[in-house]
Amino acid sequence: MITIKDKTFVPFIPADAIQARIQELAEQINQEYADKLPLIVVVLNGAFLFAADLAKHITIPCEITFIRVASYSATESSGQLKQILGLNESIAGRDLIVVEDIVDTGLTIHEVCQQLQAMHPTSIAIATLLFKPSALKEKLDLHYVGFEIENRFVLGYGLDYDGLGRNTKEIFVLHEE
Ligand code: 5GP
Ligand code: MG
Ligand code: MG
Repeated sequence: MITIKDKTFVPFIPADAIQARIQELAEQINQEYADKLPLIVVVLNGAFLFAADLAKHITIPCEITFIRVASYSATESSGQLKQILGLNESIAGRDLIVVEDIVDTGLTIHEVCQQLQAMHPTSIAIATLLFKPSALKEKLDLHYVGFEIENRFVLGYGLDYDGLGRNTKEIFVLHEE
């Protein structure tokens, strides 16, 4: 059990289960991209540990790059838009694997993929460690999913609460009384 600020979190997915599942995902990627030289696009900050552990088990040639997604309000009426930061290389003609920590509503990854699509990659696949199917608001094709989870707030192994708690080997869930 850990406490961060006003919230208490209890163990949810143990470290060995995370590692075993990541190894399976990597083996799938090794098979499906054996002749493709994929460009792995890691969405920071949340996916940093997942991407690092996944990459250790990817044995085919690949490139790895890192982006951030910033939210901004273009006008008051248009709401929050997303901007991709840090993508310096051309992705035209590349086979992308976008690596995310979690797909919740799916709005973030949906918009990121739309913007990447406009840069003419050959293909885009999504790899997410966690997926909350019941929170999904966008139609999405998720190619690699670590764990489907219920709609509760999780923390650890990259995922934060108010900037804290990313640095754990296991995943915790908010304790609700
Ligand atoms: P979306 O709702 O657009 O799919 O998710 C956007 C972002 O919200 C995720 O990339 C993640 O940073 C954050 N998020 C969604 N659900 C959770 C959760 O249960 N725990 C934490 N720590 N962050 C979450
Ligand atoms: Mg994320
Ligand atoms: Mg966060």
